[in-house]
Amino acid sequence: MIKVNYIYHSCFAVETDSALLVYDYWKDSHNGRLQNAIESNSEKQLYFIVSHFHQDHFNPEIAGFAQARRLVSYDTSKRRRIKAPIATAILRPGDVYEDENLKLNALRSTDVGIATLVTLPDGTTIYHAGDNNNWYFATDEDEHIRCSLDEMEGMFISNLREVRSITKSVDHVMFPVDPRLGSETMRGSCQWLQQIKTGHFYPMHCWGRWDEIRNGIAQLEELFPETAFVCPDASEIDEEPLFPDEPKTESGSGADSAQPNTASE
Ligand SMILES: [Zn+2]
Repeated sequence: MIKVNYIYHSCFAVETDSALLVYDYWKDSHNGRLQNAIESNSEKQLYFIVSHFHQDHFNPEIAGFAQARRLVSYDTSKRRRIKAPIATAILRPGDVYEDENLKLNALRSTDVGIATLVTLPDGTTIYHAGDNNNWYFATDEDEHIRCSLDEMEGMFISNLREVRSITKSVDHVMFPVDPRLGSETMRGSCQWLQQIKTGHFYPMHCWGRWDEIRNGIAQLEELFPETAFVCPDASEIDEEPLFPDEPKTESGSGADSAQPNTASE
C-alpha cells in the first residue's frame, strides 16, 4: 500500500513500504505536511525527485538532507548546480534509475526536464508529469513563437505514446491541471485518461486556484468512472491563489516561464 500526500503546487510526498518519495519540492504547506511526512517516515529511505529546474518545482534545501537520494533532471543539475555526489542520479528522457526500493523511467516532457514513471517492487506504478502537459494556450496562440498549438498537441500525444510503450495503465498519476489554460484546462488530462488507464489521478500545478478546476474535475469523474480523482481536503488547501503572469515566448510552451506573482502572498 502506498499513501500519496499532497504538499504544495506540484509537490507530493509518496509513502511506500520502504521509501518516502518527495516530488518537485518547492514549498512546504503552511501546516508543515512535508516536514511531518519526513519525520514520520524517518526509518525509510528519503528521495527527492526533481522533474525540472523551474523555481516552482525546485528548492535548494534538498541538498541539505543527509541520507537522501536525489534524482534530478539534467537541466536541474546544470541550472541549479546539483552535481554528483549531491545528485544520486542525473536523468535525461530515456534514462532508467534502479535501486532496491524502486525503478524509475525518465520520460519526455513537452516543457523542460523530464516526467517520471516509478515502479515499486510490488509492481505499483506512479507517474509524476513534471511540466509534461498539452500546453494548449488557445487564446494566446500569437504568444507562441517556438511551437504552434498543433505542434504542442503532437508533442504531447507523442509523449503519451512513450508512456504506453512502457505501460498502458498507471496506478497513481500526478498531472498538471493549470487554470491559466482557460477553456483548455482539462485538455491534456482528458487525453491522458483516454490513453492510459489510471487508478488514482491527482491534479497539481493549479497555483492554489482549486475553485477554478472543480467543475473540470467533476466532468472527468463522469467521463472516467474507473478513475479515482483525488483533490486535497479543504483542510489541506492552505495555499494563497497565485496569478502568475500569462506565459511568454521564452521557453516555448511557456508552461513555467512566468514567475508567480508573489505580491499576492
Ligand atoms: Zn511548473
